[in-house]
Amino acid sequence: MLYIAIIVPLLIAWWVASDAKKRGYSQGAIVAWFLGVWLVLIIFLPLYFILRPKSTILRPKSMGQTRSTSGTYVCPYCGNLYQEKVPFCPYCGRRLEEDGG
Ligand SMILES: [Zn+2]
Repeated sequence: MLYIAIIVPLLIAWWVASDAKKRGYSQGAIVAWFLGVWLVLIIFLPLYFILRPKSTILRPKSMGQTRSTSGTYVCPYCGNLYQEKVPFCPYCGRRLEEDGG
């Protein structure tokens, strides 16, 4: 059991270190995160997810057919962008027009 308690955090710490490397952390910071996650997993793992640089993915949260910049519409169901105002989403096929009956 003790073996698992060491190996599992070690694997997670290894993943955190490789993820930190991809996000451009310095060598010292990567080592610090690796040791921190390995030794105090319960504190450093949530902390890493809070502090790491977020990827720039825009998620539209507004409901209905949302018009964004330069005549592009956003599907409220699947989040894909489409150019023309169409009654059904070309990606997920759901009905988009809320008005009318
Ligand atoms: Zn859709």
